[in-house]
Amino acid sequence: MKELIRPILACILLCLAFVTATFSQTTDVYSCVTDLVNAENPQKTGSRAVHQPSKKWIPGQKIRVKFLEGSDYVKSKVMEYAEVWEEYANIDFVFVESGAAEIRISFTTDKGSWSFLGKDSTVQSMIKTPNGSQFVKNDTGASMNFGWFNNKTTEEEFKRTTLHEFGHALGLRHEHQNKNQNIQWNEDAVYAYFGKQGWSKEKTYEQVLKRYGNENDVTNGVYDPLSIMHYWYPPELIKGGVKIRQNTELSEGDKKIVGELYPFEETATVIPPPVSNPTTPKPTSPPVVPTTPVFTFSDVSVDFDGHEEKSDQDGMIFTSVFNVKNGLKQEFTMAIYFYEADGTPLKDSNKKFYSTNGNVAVFKKFTPAYADAVFKQFQIFMPYDELELEECGEINLKYTIGIWSGPKRVASTGYTYFTLDVPCDE
Ligand SMILES: [Zn+2]
Repeated sequence: MKELIRPILACILLCLAFVTATFSQTTDVYSCVTDLVNAENPQKTGSRAVHQPSKKWIPGQKIRVKFLEGSDYVKSKVMEYAEVWEEYANIDFVFVESGAAEIRISFTTDKGSWSFLGKDSTVQSMIKTPNGSQFVKNDTGASMNFGWFNNKTTEEEFKRTTLHEFGHALGLRHEHQNKNQNIQWNEDAVYAYFGKQGWSKEKTYEQVLKRYGNENDVTNGVYDPLSIMHYWYPPELIKGGVKIRQNTELSEGDKKIVGELYPFEETATVIPPPVSNPTTPKPTSPPVVPTTPVFTFSDVSVDFDGHEEKSDQDGMIFTSVFNVKNGLKQEFTMAIYFYEADGTPLKDSNKKFYSTNGNVAVFKKFTPAYADAVFKQFQIFMPYDELELEECGEINLKYTIGIWSGPKRVASTGYTYFTLDVPCDE
């Protein structure tokens, strides 16, 4: 019903004007970002979770990128600037000529420049029809389009737009719609300005004034006006006429956020190891092995409607799919740490789910039975009560999963953002 209609509507409604310095000269400049609802997992009534964090790729993942068309020159420019992100995000864009690809790029699907958000690219696309582009829920069409690129496009425009659209493809949303921004819009001026471009009030609200809240799983916790994901607007749209610079490079904030989402090996961030479970006897001296275990994650999903029979508690069920090489018969601990979106760790007070420094954490031990072991359904349950959230309402949080071998962290999934709706009437 609603779920079937919403993705299509969302796309039409969210075809955002890419407001640039050249905007006043042409109305053909659009950026449509299809920040679609997850139609596979519509939010259940009464669910605590506001969003299913499913848009993020796995750190280190190879993401195949295929051009569906385009001149060699334009393709080379897209490749050049897409790869800038690889310096700051542990992601490997592999440009392929044929076969399946997670990201599929066109130049003529429509006149806009747009991208699907993160992993949505793998299952959603746009196809060209006589009546313009049309959303399809499969990978037969483009997941990204650069509608105004041609052989005469300036270097700066190739850079700015490619960085921006690949930012969406990595899961980043628009920064000017960050919930934490405090842009004082002159709303009448905003409606008037976009009205002149032929936009309805509703469309202007959806694309300019609306802030991400309920549906954000990947965004900066802290508002960053210098982000490549921030649009440029003329000063008269803002009270006091604050001038917003047009961003053409990755900001320090952009580099930081993708580094958090897709960390390289071990980052400088030291997370204390989990506390040994007092009910589990300590293992006797662990075997000494000469090789380093190698973990490869292929998926992490979260069910926000989890329930544990044993404790009769509601909570989140984390399901990880990964393999371990060189880990035969060694004991490992998977630990999940929880933070506010700005990075403040959640504090534990009852010593039930905690790390050695007193922060909220949950963990589970495992021992691979094979030299090359595959874990297809490794589940960890985290009761909501043990997050020990003191406030109610919508709370923006993030988690990271680490794997420990004794006191050494040997793998990490990077941070994933999520929002909980905590009932106030308890
Ligand atoms: Zn955009």
